[in-house]
Amino acid sequence: MTLTLIRNAHVFNPDDQGQQDVLLGGGHILAIGHNFSLSGQDLPYTEHDAQGALLVPGLVDPLAHITGGGGEGGFHTRTPEMQLTDATAGGVTTLMAALGTDATTRTLPDLLAKASGLTAEGLTVYCYTGSYELPARTVLGNVRDDIILIDKIIGVGEVAIADHRSSVPSARDLAQVASDARVAGMLAGKAGVTLVHVGGSDERLNLIEEALALSDVPASQFFPTHINRSDALLAQAIWLSNAGMRFDLTASTTPELLAAGELSAGEALAKALYDGAKANMITVSSDGNASLPEFNAAGELIGLKVGEVKSVHETLQEAVGQHKVPLPQALRAVSTNAAELFKLPQKGRIAPGVDADLVLLEPATLAVQSVWARGQQLVQAGQPVVWGTFE
Ligand code: ZN
Repeated sequence: MTLTLIRNAHVFNPDDQGQQDVLLGGGHILAIGHNFSLSGQDLPYTEHDAQGALLVPGLVDPLAHITGGGGEGGFHTRTPEMQLTDATAGGVTTLMAALGTDATTRTLPDLLAKASGLTAEGLTVYCYTGSYELPARTVLGNVRDDIILIDKIIGVGEVAIADHRSSVPSARDLAQVASDARVAGMLAGKAGVTLVHVGGSDERLNLIEEALALSDVPASQFFPTHINRSDALLAQAIWLSNAGMRFDLTASTTPELLAAGELSAGEALAKALYDGAKANMITVSSDGNASLPEFNAAGELIGLKVGEVKSVHETLQEAVGQHKVPLPQALRAVSTNAAELFKLPQKGRIAPGVDADLVLLEPATLAVQSVWARGQQLVQAGQPVVWGTFE
């Protein structure tokens, strides 16, 4: 075992812990304190002087399409797979992977294999069973069995509502899948969350409200994403968050989407906090490697871009730099809150015993300097030092 000593780091967990030394070993954080010395002991070690840079938990991305997505413009518009450094360059060390529109040519076995591949390369990756459509596509035949029996599967989604690409689920359909996921989560000690893709129609979150009204599923089981599509959608999500529903902002965007009324994730985070949402109820995901299709009024595809995992880190910079969100609250949104939602006590924190997933940020710009994932340094001096197998 090689020990790593990070000296003189300004630690945020996500609250300000002041200047500390942090000792890593065996993939975990071993100790946090002052004036540690490793000289005079026999284990090999490396030292890293952070010189007052900000040491924060590795970012946790609750929605990335690691095997690609899209295809709304035909087979040539299927987006490519994510590579290791797509995540690490932006300080993301944990991801939740999902299928999207296409669960025919994209499959859950492929998603699980890619998740295992990225895990072997150094990240921590979990998966959702299902896709946009209901009844849910699954590995073992139903949502319950997938969540109970497959370690990496921690929920279901992204089930599409309020979108012309949805399978037009009823409120009862949505309540049923959320109930199945919840019960499976209880039995397996997992969150059993239902990730809901919310499209651009005026139905917004109404189907979730109806599902809550006709069932006993708690609001905390629903986790809608793309909430920064519009002010009206954000307002409805803030209202539902008071009933216990966490919600997710999408970091990847395009100038065209922003011009059409979408808020950037950084602006939406600032607005939600200003409008009274609790800081522990909001997450930011990348929607990485998703297609960002643009449709005209007739529903025809007129443009296509690809989401990027590093957009979560760009949202952190924007929220703090431009919209003056306090750093601890912004760090909650890009790391700690998703770890709590998915019941991952090893993630989203800096404390003795947790996984050594750490990001060192330049204090003025919050640029990524160094990244460690389960103790392995993947980024140094702002550049990847570990590459994916085919990069
Ligand atoms: Zn989506």
